[in-house]
Amino acid sequence: MKILFDFDGTLTNIQHEYASELARLESLVCEASGVPSEVFVEWLRRAQAHASLTPERYGWCDHGRVSAFCDEDLFMQVASAMQILDEWTGEGVAGTEAFREGMGTVTFMDLTERAHLDMHAEPLCAFNTPDPEALSVLQTLLDRDCEIVVVSNSPASRIIEKFEHAGMRPVDHDNNPSARFRICGMAGKFVLADSPDPVSFGGRMVDLDRPGYRQILSRERPQAVVGDVFSLDLALPLEMARREPLVYEDMQLYLRVRPYTPQWAIDCMLNPPSDCPASLRLLNHFNDLPSLMLRHG
Ligand SMILES: [Mg+2]
Repeated sequence: MKILFDFDGTLTNIQHEYASELARLESLVCEASGVPSEVFVEWLRRAQAHASLTPERYGWCDHGRVSAFCDEDLFMQVASAMQILDEWTGEGVAGTEAFREGMGTVTFMDLTERAHLDMHAEPLCAFNTPDPEALSVLQTLLDRDCEIVVVSNSPASRIIEKFEHAGMRPVDHDNNPSARFRICGMAGKFVLADSPDPVSFGGRMVDLDRPGYRQILSRERPQAVVGDVFSLDLALPLEMARREPLVYEDMQLYLRVRPYTPQWAIDCMLNPPSDCPASLRLLNHFNDLPSLMLRHG
């Protein structure tokens, strides 16, 4: 059996990295603008509240379109709030003058990207490497002769370092595309092209114009895909199974449920389209994965 795993948030717990990025962002904004921390925190709260009113409009964007929604994970929540603060300062919303005066041409999104890079440069530790539960599940699946491909937007070398820190030794797909445990890095699952392909899932229009991820799925033809962000990880394989049922008839899709998982994504997994041959499951306890796959496969 071949299984595709997402990495961040699926095999790791992003809570600590999120807290670290947010703290870094706060200090970068306060340093650049001269605005006190409590004022920034209040504007962050307002921007997040604003995003939550129309979450389908905000998120991780590519080509000017939303690729994953702001309510799907913690990093997207903060990036969306910063996008809104850029809009508000640009429009001269009352109270935001101090940010613009202090920051000049530097945007909130510039500082978010810097904070994200700083967070990624932190030394490896238990908080930014695969969690013990994930390691034990992967080992069980490998012992059962499953093929495991971790598909991530990060470079493969960084993911391999993280696994090695945790005592496992996957290889880079580019070096050995037939290895039984390999990492397919720089996957660009969020990257949209020029032909919008919006499909409705749980009331959200998810854009499936993701040629990079589509190419990986077509090449690998996995029997199972496991992820924590519906739009990035699961929407495309779900729709591919629906459009090509003979090719993907046995597909199993698993959404790892996290505290940040939105209800609409849970509803999507519980109520798949009637003509979808794939089986969809929520993964509330990661340890359940091997037995769920066995029962199913
Ligand atoms: Mg993820």
